[in-house]
Amino acid sequence: MKCSFCGYEIERGTGKIKFMKDEKVVHLCGTKCEKNMFKLRRIPRETAWTADYKAAKAMRMATEQHKDHSNQKKAKSEVRKAKPEQKTQSRQSQAVHSSAVESRAK
Ligand SMILES: [Zn+2]
Repeated sequence: MKCSFCGYEIERGTGKIKFMKDEKVVHLCGTKCEKNMFKLRRIPRETAWTADYKAAKAMRMATEQHKDHSNQKKAKSEVRKAKPEQKTQSRQSQAVHSSAVESRAK
């Protein structure tokens, strides 16, 4: 059975079941969730330590990453255009490097 507030599994033999006036059954894992739900009247989606919040955050991150990926692709294509010059430079530097290594070997 999962807690109605935090969304995590309730261990057997622990927790509370509340039967509300509007025929709703609320399963709670402990006093923490009970207080947050009824006394503090917090919303699971906006409470940082609940599974619901984690899921919402994951969704948000996924959408943001998707946006970032599209931006990165654009950036990569720009880099590719600029790369040919860099490659020749790196080859020259490598050639210098190898010659330096050979001279050291001698
Ligand atoms: Zn809970």
